[in-house]
Amino acid sequence: MSEEKSLNFIEEIVETDLASGKYQSIHTRFPPEPNGYLHIGHSKSICLNFGLAIKYGGKTNLRFDDTNPITEETEYVDSIKEDIRWLGFEWHNEYYASDYFDQLYHFAVKLIQKGLAYVDDSTSEEIALLKGTPSEPGKDSPFRNRTREENLQLFEEMKAGKYKEGEKVLRAKINMASPNMLMRDPLIYRIKHAHHHRTGNTWCIYPMYDFAHGQSDSIEKITHSICTLEFVAHRELYDWFIEKLEIFPSRQYEFARLNMTYTVMSKRKLLKLVNEGFVTGWDDPRMPTISGLRRKGFTPASIRMFCDKIGVAKRENFIDLGLLEFCLREDLNMTAKRVMVVLDPLKLVISNFPDGKTEMMLAENGPDPALGTREIPFSKELWIEKDDFMELPAKKWFRLAPGALVRLKNAYIIRCDGFLKNDAGDIIELQCSYLPETRSGADESGITVKGTIHWVSAAHAKTAEVRLYDRLFNTENPSAEDDDFRTHINPDSLQIINSAFIEPSLETAKIEDRYQFLRKGYFCADKDSTPEKLIFNRTVTLKDTWAKATGK
Ligand code: ATP
Ligand code: MG
Repeated sequence: MSEEKSLNFIEEIVETDLASGKYQSIHTRFPPEPNGYLHIGHSKSICLNFGLAIKYGGKTNLRFDDTNPITEETEYVDSIKEDIRWLGFEWHNEYYASDYFDQLYHFAVKLIQKGLAYVDDSTSEEIALLKGTPSEPGKDSPFRNRTREENLQLFEEMKAGKYKEGEKVLRAKINMASPNMLMRDPLIYRIKHAHHHRTGNTWCIYPMYDFAHGQSDSIEKITHSICTLEFVAHRELYDWFIEKLEIFPSRQYEFARLNMTYTVMSKRKLLKLVNEGFVTGWDDPRMPTISGLRRKGFTPASIRMFCDKIGVAKRENFIDLGLLEFCLREDLNMTAKRVMVVLDPLKLVISNFPDGKTEMMLAENGPDPALGTREIPFSKELWIEKDDFMELPAKKWFRLAPGALVRLKNAYIIRCDGFLKNDAGDIIELQCSYLPETRSGADESGITVKGTIHWVSAAHAKTAEVRLYDRLFNTENPSAEDDDFRTHINPDSLQIINSAFIEPSLETAKIEDRYQFLRKGYFCADKDSTPEKLIFNRTVTLKDTWAKATGK
């Protein structure tokens, strides 16, 4: 698919750089901060960074951007690695920005020696006051003209733990009148007496993002450092540090982040959903995390296809969640085995079928012959879906009704002869007869029917729990400004069916096995399954019911 498409703007840059001989090969990186699980937005960045290196024969590093000791945890590091591999990518090297703390410290010392950084004793409020506004220049800090010697000594004392948090910071000495506020003597080091997940208590000063990111890129000789649009304004600073430090000239390029309808994407908000119990965890199937999508039954190929389809843009927009589901259906349609499961059962008795007899019916597992075939037991008493019968059929009703004929999938045509009701007036049993000459695959009767329904033999059925997941939010943009996303939670995002009837072949389903439950949607075995009770998650319905509901 991608061969036919025109190049995206980053591919164009890469091709130009390779053609001009600026680089012999390219080197990208994926730089997650280990402060949460990866989400579908990250997969766009992953597919882009790894995809470029694969396409142009380069390399991609995985670099954990772990310069903030407060929010980072090893659990997140492990999950990030698992998710990238699951998506189908392998990194060239695994690095941690914290591995560069020594080197970054020396870079800061170098700036001080060049007269390009100073220690500031001002409080953060004082610094903010002197910063100016976008239309008004800032003012110099009273500490701006400290000597190199004094700065070197103070910075060393900061490192040695002599000061409390907030007492001193190191700032780059650039230009307090720059139209770019980020160039107005940005902070490059702050004091934090905090334990770091890798460096422990070795450090009590930590570099700011801007002082760590570009330099880490440079240390790794990253040629194309790709990030999202909110970093456009940081590019000037990124280049300034590289120029002043005279190090490898990595270059930053920005693309539009993925925003998707009916979804919140920031890790901060996802953490709230977890912590406040709206979902059961980071891998809850309603979460837009990679682990949630995986548990719900998404395939890596469908996510890669989605990232390929949305492309790489320079302007922010919203992608319809329906597109992700479309890619999923495309993939599952070819790869998921078809099985029969009755979610809302009604008993059906075939009066002219011998008592105690079991006939094995041959069924294809899917449109792709590679999926093979299986045998399904058929007997006198079956379960069918309640809503496949109407006592008083509507117009164009092709399923069961008194006197009507339908085909039982992979089996016989049956006729509904009657039904039983309980005292409350509910239909509890259908009485039918089958047409022996209409057996699937050997039907020469010439009888045609318009409806085909699925079924499960009552004597052979097993029960399973089925979790019907729906969208977690009921508005297109739950993250709209000045709005609490939690007020847009869809109260019906999970419906649990305690005992659905599954055909016997499903008994051997393993966790993450994916199926199409005929006429019902795609489903996947959940990790909560036990030998006593299988649990299936609905991955996606067969059709986009939301598009219909919203008139799209
Ligand atoms: P969040 O705002 O969700 O916390 P983040 O940008 O802080 O995300 P990082 O761990 O810093 O998360 O991101 C790692 C990489 O993934 C960065 O290069 C970032 O630009 C990219 N990324 C994050 N979110 C998206 C998104 N929605 N679309 C595309 N790329 C993204
Ligand atoms: Mg971040």
